[in-house]
Amino acid sequence: MKRLHARYPFLDSAREAVETAEVDLAELVLREDSAAVDRAVERVDAALAEDSVGQPHRRTRVELLSYPIARVLVSLVDEPMLQRKYAHAEAATARERFEADVDDDAELKSASGGRMTTERLLAEFDLADDVRSIDDDRYLVAVGPYLRLSGGLDGEEWRLATRALRDGEVPVDEAELRELLEAAIRERVADGLPLSVPEPIAEGLADAVERIEDSLADRELRHDFDAVVPSLFPPCVRALLERIDDGESLDEPGRFALTAFLTSLGMAPDAAADLAAGAADAGESVRYQAAHLGDEEDPGYAPPSCASMAEYGLCVDKDELCEEIDHPITYYDRRLDDADGADAAAAANE
Ligand code: SF4
Repeated sequence: MKRLHARYPFLDSAREAVETAEVDLAELVLREDSAAVDRAVERVDAALAEDSVGQPHRRTRVELLSYPIARVLVSLVDEPMLQRKYAHAEAATARERFEADVDDDAELKSASGGRMTTERLLAEFDLADDVRSIDDDRYLVAVGPYLRLSGGLDGEEWRLATRALRDGEVPVDEAELRELLEAAIRERVADGLPLSVPEPIAEGLADAVERIEDSLADRELRHDFDAVVPSLFPPCVRALLERIDDGESLDEPGRFALTAFLTSLGMAPDAAADLAAGAADAGESVRYQAAHLGDEEDPGYAPPSCASMAEYGLCVDKDELCEEIDHPITYYDRRLDDADGADAAAAANE
C-alpha cells in the first residue's frame, strides 16, 4: 500500500491495492482495537464538524483502510445529509493535498510512492482527452464534462452563458480546473452510497455507528432551539460578539465560527446580522456569510468544534461547563436545558 493511495483513497489504484491485500473487512471491524475503524469514525466526525477528514493516521495501511470503512459507516447511518457532507469533506481534503503536492516543493520531496499531478487526476476521471492546456494557467474543457462537473457548483460564473464557449470547449483557469476536479472527486466518493452492507460487518460496526449518530444528533440540535438567548452563548461566541461590539473586524475563521453558530441556532441571516451588527459593516458581512452557509433543507456547514476553535485561537474564557463538552452548540444546549422557560425568556430580553 503506497502513501499516494492513503492520501488519495478514492483512486481506482487505491481500491485495487486494498483488494490485492485481501483484507477481510469483517475480520478487521470485529477486532476490538481496530485503528482503522477509529480513524474511519474520525473521518466522518471531522466531515460533520469542519469540511475535512481530519489528520491522517501515521500508518499508511490504517489511513487507507479507514476510507472504505468510513464509506460503510456513512452507509449504515443512512442519512443523506451525512453522505453529502462526507463526500464534500473527502473532496475538500483531497484538493488541499493535491494543491500541496502541486505547489509545494518540500511536499513533493517528502511524498514517497509518487505524487499527484493534474495529468494524473485528469486521467483518473477519464478527462485526459477533454481538457487541454493552452498556457501555464489556462485550460479548455470540453463542454459535456464541463456541464456535468460544474452543474452542482454555486455561482453565476459557472453558467455557460457567462463563458466564452468556442468550438465545443469552455475556457477555465487553474483554480477553476481544480474546482472541477474537486467536483469529480466528490462524485466518485458519493458514487454508490449508501452501500449495501453485509450483516456481520454491520454488527461489527454497531458501536462506531452509534458514535457517529451521537455526533449527528449533537449537530442536529440546530433545528431544535426555539429560543435564542445570547447571555447563554458559550464564552467563545460571546467573546466574538464583544469584539464586534468594540468595533473590531473579525478575521475569516472568527467570522465563520460566529456566523455558523448563529445560523445553527436556526437564526435567519437577517437576524444573525442584526445580532452581530456592531461595527459598521460587520452586520452585512455576517448577513452575507449566513446567506451562503446553507438553507433550511441543507443546514450547510456545522460550526467548528471546540478542538477547531482552540486551533484557531478562538477558544477563550473557558468556564466549568467547557470542561464537559466538545462543541459550542452542546454548551448552548446544556445552558438552555439548565435555565427554565421563564429564565430563558428573561435572559432573552436582557
Ligand atoms: S471550550 Fe468550546 S464552548 Fe468553551 S469556550 Fe472553548 S470553544 Fe467555546
